[in-house]
Amino acid sequence: MRLELAGKALQSEFLAAVEEHSGQNVSACYQCGKCTGGCPVQPDLDLSPSRVLRFVQLGLEDKALSNETIWCCAACGTCTSRCPIGIDLVSIMDTLRAFAERKGISPPGKGDTVWTFFRSFLDGVRQFGRLSEVALMGSYNINSGRLYTNVIKAPWFVLRSKLGIMPHKIERIERLERVFQRIEEIEKK
Ligand code: SF4
Ligand code: SF4
Repeated sequence: MRLELAGKALQSEFLAAVEEHSGQNVSACYQCGKCTGGCPVQPDLDLSPSRVLRFVQLGLEDKALSNETIWCCAACGTCTSRCPIGIDLVSIMDTLRAFAERKGISPPGKGDTVWTFFRSFLDGVRQFGRLSEVALMGSYNINSGRLYTNVIKAPWFVLRSKLGIMPHKIERIERLERVFQRIEEIEKK
């Protein structure tokens, strides 16, 4: 689809890059809003999913990469299932997060909390090869500056054997480390 604004075709390297990376025809979005209508997280965020797509269409890179929505998208796929033309917004959100990360754009507002959780989760998996709830909680609380988040609940979980105190490393964790290193190499390209 050819997008026009005031009779002029909209062309943007940013739009082309997002379409190529995500494999989605963002230009075809005609802003019906069905994706936004079904999005469970949108009411708490600064932009609706359809608005994010609009900014991409218009080549407004700063606005498309600096918002809470791309970080807080839960990848539930409701938007895609509702979209009349089958645009996969999850792939587009993934792409925008990757672009923001590459450009060193810090996630704003609630996005920062989600980003801190992502990092704490992945750091724990990289260190132990599996999720350790205690390590995740400690890492997240320190990195987010919310030192006492959920701390009061921890004894209850430990007493009921729902929470292991000591994280266990998987065997041959060096193989997993090679996976992380490979991903870092790909991200730099
Ligand atoms: S995949 Fe993301 S944008 Fe789409 S409905 Fe779910 S949370 Fe909203
Ligand atoms: S449902 Fe599809 S066409 Fe409608 S606004 Fe969302 S992405 Fe665009």
